[in-house]
Amino acid sequence: MTEITAPKSPISAEQFADEIREQLKYTQGVTEQQATDADVYVAAASAVRRHLMDAWMQTQQDMINGDTKAVGYLSAEFLMGKQLSNALLNVGLTEQFEEAVKNLGHDPQNVIDAEYEPGLGNGGLGRLAACFIDSLASLGVPAFGYGIQYKYGIFKQEFDEEGKQVETPDYWLENEEPWGHIDYGRSQRVNFGGEVVEENGKRVWKPSWAVRAVPVDYMVPGYKSGRVNTLRLWTSKSYDEFDLLTFNKSEYLDAVRPQVVAENISKILYPEDSTPQGKALRLEQQYFFVSASIHDAIRVFYPGQDKPDLTTFPQKINFQLNDTHPVIGIPELMRVLIDEYGYDWDTAWSITSKTFNYTCHTLLPEALEVWSADLIGALLPRHLEIIKKINDQFVKELAAQGVDKKQIERMRIYTDGKDASVRMAYLATYGGSHVNGVAELHSQLLKDVTLKDFSDAYPDKFTNVTNGVTPRRFVRMANPRMSDLITEGLGTDAWMSDLEKLQGLVPLADDAEFVKKFAEVKQANKRAFVDFAKRKYGFEINADTMFNTMVKRLHEYKRQSLKILAVISTYADIKSGKLDVDSIVPRTVFFGAKSAPGYAMAKETIQLINNVSRVVNNDPATKGKLSVYFPWNYNIELAENLIPATDLDEQISQAGKEASGTGNMKFALNGALTVGTLDGANVEIRERVGAENFFLFGMTVDEVDALYAADYDHGGSRRYYEEDPRLKQAIDMVADGTFSEGDKKTYENLVNDWLTHDYFMTLADFGAYMDIQDEIESTYRDPMKWARMAVLNVANSGYFSSDRSIEDYLERIWHTGPLA
Ligand SMILES: *Cc1c(COP(=O)(O)O)cnc(C)c1O
Repeated sequence: MTEITAPKSPISAEQFADEIREQLKYTQGVTEQQATDADVYVAAASAVRRHLMDAWMQTQQDMINGDTKAVGYLSAEFLMGKQLSNALLNVGLTEQFEEAVKNLGHDPQNVIDAEYEPGLGNGGLGRLAACFIDSLASLGVPAFGYGIQYKYGIFKQEFDEEGKQVETPDYWLENEEPWGHIDYGRSQRVNFGGEVVEENGKRVWKPSWAVRAVPVDYMVPGYKSGRVNTLRLWTSKSYDEFDLLTFNKSEYLDAVRPQVVAENISKILYPEDSTPQGKALRLEQQYFFVSASIHDAIRVFYPGQDKPDLTTFPQKINFQLNDTHPVIGIPELMRVLIDEYGYDWDTAWSITSKTFNYTCHTLLPEALEVWSADLIGALLPRHLEIIKKINDQFVKELAAQGVDKKQIERMRIYTDGKDASVRMAYLATYGGSHVNGVAELHSQLLKDVTLKDFSDAYPDKFTNVTNGVTPRRFVRMANPRMSDLITEGLGTDAWMSDLEKLQGLVPLADDAEFVKKFAEVKQANKRAFVDFAKRKYGFEINADTMFNTMVKRLHEYKRQSLKILAVISTYADIKSGKLDVDSIVPRTVFFGAKSAPGYAMAKETIQLINNVSRVVNNDPATKGKLSVYFPWNYNIELAENLIPATDLDEQISQAGKEASGTGNMKFALNGALTVGTLDGANVEIRERVGAENFFLFGMTVDEVDALYAADYDHGGSRRYYEEDPRLKQAIDMVADGTFSEGDKKTYENLVNDWLTHDYFMTLADFGAYMDIQDEIESTYRDPMKWARMAVLNVANSGYFSSDRSIEDYLERIWHTGPLA
């Protein structure tokens, strides 16, 4: 076997500098003297890309010629983060880069910073996809990521004078983007609309419009694996660049309209997280990338074949459906097999159901996509027929199994009647081989509640794969100081590709010297963040305070409102003298969160946090003891800077609502302690790091259910307000205008909701949350104890590597492995 390496051969810093010079001159046309940091970034990225080329081609060849099944990760979102330092790390060119760039007279950090972060995802789901393709490449497993190259990623968040969120468009392709390679030769036609007619006893789709899906390929270099996979993101183009007839009549705008409509499909990422809107354009996007990807995979694995034997398709590639967004792929593959390749229904079904698997990412019923049958029928009439037929077959199968009528009605994929609709999660569960949740608790609740009927009928389909994060980006790149200390402590850097090796740090938790160094690293990270925040946001932060962080999408179930009410309560107690300000642990509270633009309650919460920040930070009574900062536009870059600097991490969602969380894993792996509920992967984190090294509070899933049964969300919350003076005071201050310059209307919706509805039980958990703070503070007062606990968090969190998640997928779901 030939050894595959990327870079092809080791190079020196001088050689790397020469390659950058060459790019600058012959591709970009700038002299070394003229070159800006941004120019050098583009040149360095292009040079790195060239180093990946041989391994990329070899990986593709080995994938096509060998018999190792590939993975197609279908995801509407890939939240990649900046690429340059990741690529350098994975191919082992970091040092050469730094020296080369210095020799060219630039600061390496400025060159890295010149890259614009692509925001092709909302939050956890998109970041998971990015971690997974990194791990697949690092493990040497042949894989494609398939998605959409949105022209506009997730909006940029700013705050106005009143502290309200303002969204501005994220035109990330404004400057040169050196990573994506557009490949017109691999375009696919994607049809829409029209009708289905009967021709020679066959159903034939006569679409009324079509777009051209053009792939933009991104290389995905594995860490030290020598393998480079592909992230193929589709962009939409028009076929009829100009309708000349119309153009001749000098109706120019009409002539270009089809082009505008076609290019709309990949124009914008929907900014909803957890609560999709049933918009036609979104369904168009879903079908667009899934149809193109399926046809692409057939072309990749059966090159040049007019009549391929597609019964072998499930041995060539398995598609993983990342949530319900790509589920239209199931009827699409059926259609392709039957209509385009002439297979009979049963053969097509056998192929399709072996090809797909489904990852469910939620427990919130409103997050499970349901499409109106009218919409699907108008856009994809042939698919609606196929879905109905799948439903008929499904209903028959259930009846034959003896499933009772009522249960069958509940389980229908296609519901008849006036508001006929298609339930995508049910289609995915029936149409694929496996269904997985993303943490133990979540998978259990899927089986017990959300998909119970399905779990009863098809128990063997259900499995769990607990999420993970890539240690390359979220430990090594984000936290070089701690990484060096770990490598020193373990005597090897092998932990970066085998994160369970962090276990070797356990004995070092009792080594005072090591624990002290660990605490020093944290302090250095905090100082570095203070500099970053000063530069980027103009904040003046005191590094000698506890850094207490809550960063994630803004959603009621995540309960940023619980955190801010606690801050308000502490503030009130300081003001009233109930708390001696000199007796408390000085704290800096950080929030980072975007809200969906149409989510009123979430936006009001953002406004409240900003105004609490304004009031508290400017009050001499709390100066230096309690401050609140809300750096805007939470993204991967902010995560990479803030997480390693955090002492205390907030994972305080209502039990039973967070499917997994991955932020929690990033924090534990960076030596932050967690205050959290028994929800999502918190449960497993706590089990591994030890209950004594985790600040647990709040209701369990069973207690939450009991409160719902007692009608909590219909007026039950008010009792907590009336019975807990701390809570009453905090809510009263929100209501009385303390954080809105006297205006009592600003937070009316929030206050009303807390007192009458409070579906996510912020009020019911408030007391427990306040009570745990004493334990947190007394622990923090003993710095060596805190640092020791932090070391044990790191040492025992190796399980939460996305490499381990991928190994679980390989074993439980995909049944494949690395290329030979
Ligand atoms: C990890 C990550 C998330 C997910 O955070 P959760 O706390 O798991 O919701 C969201 N956004 C960014 C930028 C991230 O890096």
